[in-house]
Amino acid sequence: MPGEKPVRIHLTASAEQAVQSGHPWVFDGGILKQNRQGQPGELAALYGKHDRLVALGLYDPDSPFRVRVFHRGGSVILNDRWWQEHLLQPIQKRQNWFDCETTGYRLIHGESDGWPGLVLDRYGSVLVLKLYTAAWLPWLKRLSTWIRGLLTPESLVLRLSRNIQSMAVARGFPDDGTVLLGKAIQRAVPFLENGLQFEAEVCRGQKTGFFLDQRENRQRVATLAAGKHVLNLFSYSGGFSVYAARGGALSATDVDVSAPALESARRHFQLNAGLYPHRDCRHSTVQADAFEWLQSASASARYDLVVLDPPSLTRQASNREAAMRAYRWLVQKSLRKLRLGGILVAASCSAHVRPDEFFNLVRATARVAGMQIRDLATTGQPVDHPATFREAEYLKCIYLQLLGATHKPKRRRA
Ligand code: SAH
Repeated sequence: MPGEKPVRIHLTASAEQAVQSGHPWVFDGGILKQNRQGQPGELAALYGKHDRLVALGLYDPDSPFRVRVFHRGGSVILNDRWWQEHLLQPIQKRQNWFDCETTGYRLIHGESDGWPGLVLDRYGSVLVLKLYTAAWLPWLKRLSTWIRGLLTPESLVLRLSRNIQSMAVARGFPDDGTVLLGKAIQRAVPFLENGLQFEAEVCRGQKTGFFLDQRENRQRVATLAAGKHVLNLFSYSGGFSVYAARGGALSATDVDVSAPALESARRHFQLNAGLYPHRDCRHSTVQADAFEWLQSASASARYDLVVLDPPSLTRQASNREAAMRAYRWLVQKSLRKLRLGGILVAASCSAHVRPDEFFNLVRATARVAGMQIRDLATTGQPVDHPATFREAEYLKCIYLQLLGATHKPKRRRA
């Protein structure tokens, strides 16, 4: 299938304009006509006015994203050489971004790196290829060959987003967690991040085994943590706590619903213990639903620094309002966990919530709760997770300091 004649698609004027201005998705409504029905993963040639070729993409009849663009501009010969060149581009860009203290980072970040719906992460000498669209499944053999040719990994692991896992198996493609190249993976894969030791659960962990996208926020938290008691909500494998301890925290508490994540958190905390200024920095883990834990009376302790990094609460744009309410609730409860002078680090990884909207939600929640706060910083995505179009901007984070109470809590207007 890859390599056959592309499906020829003529775009509406607005879809043509969107594609030309850098948008990578074509929806059903953007298609004026097409020469035939295509199979998932077939090449699609996109034409605009006057039969001009504007872009090339991957076709998927089963997805609302009917075509995902990987190349803009005129005709090219899509041979192995072209694809290898295409693969090399994002990888080469990253060549000088990380030193030997950081061996875990993203090599390819989907659409914004010219590889729609595809992610390639590096953990030391192990690579993890994660697919978010079934359109790449028929390309797996060629993808493995190109990756081997360019990067010679010790192992290449395949991860599939949940929505395509059963489809992949039903169509005879490798399953989530399959090692496509090289050695079998016996245990979590060690790597370094800013000189700290971590291990990625590449075959079954969340994302590709680690939340590489929070690297820069973790580093910033280290600079704020000296002498502090830290609460790390939705901790996953405890990355923020390890950084806080290295920054001189007195204690760190990880709360997460996942037992395996907390097991990794304990291991990560121990692995780096030699680097902590306070050798006796206390680490505790709480396996709980963070909503319930924050609600419960027994959780009455106060902290100097609270990290709030929930999963995306808006998988669907349709339950956006519910998600916004949940964010407000979490922010309010997290602020209540702070001592005076304490710092809240609140992140959102939902692409359906715009950065300013999230920052304003956090600030307004504090105001409504009668808290006087000071803005310390806001951040976006790290350099290896670029965003070239609006929907690709998903991660944002705000740092606030609690200065005191202003007045009685306001009642929110409906
Ligand atoms: N801060 C982490 C990444 C957090 S990802 C890091 O830097 O690595 C979100 C985490 O929330 C996941 O570990 C997931 O297990 C956890 N989670 C999801 N729902 C939860 C809930 N209701 N209560 C507690 N943890 C939850």
